[in-house]
Amino acid sequence: MQDPDNVDFNFDNSFARELKGFFVPCEASKAPKPSLLILNQRLAEELSLDVSALQTSLGAEVFSGNRLPNGAIPLAQAYAGHQFGNFSPQLGDGRALLLGEIIDTGGQRQDVQLKGSGRTPFSRNGDGKAALGPVLREYLISEAMHALGVPTTRSLAAVTTGEKVFRETALPGAVLTRISTSHLRVGTFEFFAAQGKTDMVRRLADYAISRHYPIAHNAGNPYLTFFKSVASAQISLVAHWMSIGFIHGVMNTDNTTISGQTIDYGPCAFMDTFSPKTVFSSIDLRGRYAYGNQPAILMWNLMRLAETLVPLVHVEKDRAIELLIDEAKNFERSYEDIWLQYMSTKIGLNTKENRDFNLIQSLLKIMQEGEADFTLTFRRLSDAIRGEKAAVRKQFNNPTEYDLWESEWLSRLKQEPASFEVCAAKMDKVNPIYIPRNHKVEEALSMAVENRNLSAFENLLSAVTAPFVEVAGRESFTEPAPKTSVPYQTFCGT
Ligand code: AMP
Ligand code: MG
Repeated sequence: MQDPDNVDFNFDNSFARELKGFFVPCEASKAPKPSLLILNQRLAEELSLDVSALQTSLGAEVFSGNRLPNGAIPLAQAYAGHQFGNFSPQLGDGRALLLGEIIDTGGQRQDVQLKGSGRTPFSRNGDGKAALGPVLREYLISEAMHALGVPTTRSLAAVTTGEKVFRETALPGAVLTRISTSHLRVGTFEFFAAQGKTDMVRRLADYAISRHYPIAHNAGNPYLTFFKSVASAQISLVAHWMSIGFIHGVMNTDNTTISGQTIDYGPCAFMDTFSPKTVFSSIDLRGRYAYGNQPAILMWNLMRLAETLVPLVHVEKDRAIELLIDEAKNFERSYEDIWLQYMSTKIGLNTKENRDFNLIQSLLKIMQEGEADFTLTFRRLSDAIRGEKAAVRKQFNNPTEYDLWESEWLSRLKQEPASFEVCAAKMDKVNPIYIPRNHKVEEALSMAVENRNLSAFENLLSAVTAPFVEVAGRESFTEPAPKTSVPYQTFCGT
């Protein structure tokens, strides 16, 4: 029954309809005193939602899970996953609920999910809740990633629940509403594959193909083409991360999407001083998910997907493995090509020459030796072309190394058909000036959590969601934190 006083999300719930067995129907916990903190208006409009209704107390009710929009079918999805290399056969949505799917104004199917809405059959020992700090962190960083042009889940709303959640201390509870082209993960495939239920894996693969890679249906070998398509989306995603200094922090297979979107902003962070070994996550003791390891970990995760597809790819197991490995042999090359493309664009190159790879590598080498800030170095290169060299030189402990590199770079840039001015303008469209700097994120979150003051959060959000246009008055967002002896650490948002 449609309730005329309720909001209508125009749900069309294909997952609930087509994938019985892959979820458990589940209700959200009641939030005692929900309050809407932030609503992403532009995204709400893209989803054809009633923004003005959602800005009233109804929004707080809906985004806390207290009231289901018309047509919602709340459910917790089942998935497995390799976490830090070890297989967990049953993870699943332990603190999230899929409400349903909306076709957005661009014709794209989008999941609407509540994160932090209470216990589900997959919660194990967890409380199913989320604390305000991590909810705002995910909101901020996912929206920053979107503005940077990186495929990602989005954040539609954040509410506080009026309840305390207990971590090391009592913290305000909150719920994030997450939007995603789907929540299918490599771990979703691993769930039934590990149980040897090939028919279920095939149903899932057919669903995933229809939803994300419909062209694969008509390929000679649809499942092999599906594998190649997921790999290609993920390879491009990780190359993009690398080009902006993003460290995901917990690249488990349950956090590796089939769509190729970034998901699960727990301990992620942007690198400041360039070093491939950079790790921020407090639980990543061995640096498995360090910046420089991300491409190799992606390949490892893709192999876990390949394993689940073996029975689908060919009736003969050996042949299936051979076919999948033949595909995978191209991945490293394809990653390098895409990475080189991203990095070339960052230094103003739009044509290709053999020397470009070494030119970029030698820049990265002097950045590492000179302890240069990743974001500012690339951003200030365009000023150097315009004749203002001081800002980029300042990034290096050893600026004369930079000078040597610069003369090589400028001689290469002269081979470009475009003028220096045009190259510089293009560089400013891919090298952000505003990223969610770790100290700024912490400052904004602690003001929000401790003082219930969102002004720093809102200012930071405005800066990082317009990351390429330098604006007077936002200088404090550009600089890295003063160097301290205590390394920055992030924690899983549980
Ligand atoms: P994540 O580290 O966020 O990718 O989560 C890994 C797994 O732990 C997923 O199955 C989550 O649903 C589950 N999980 C994380 N935090 C909680 C929590 N507070 N309560 C219940 N389950 C949780
Ligand atoms: Mg996860």
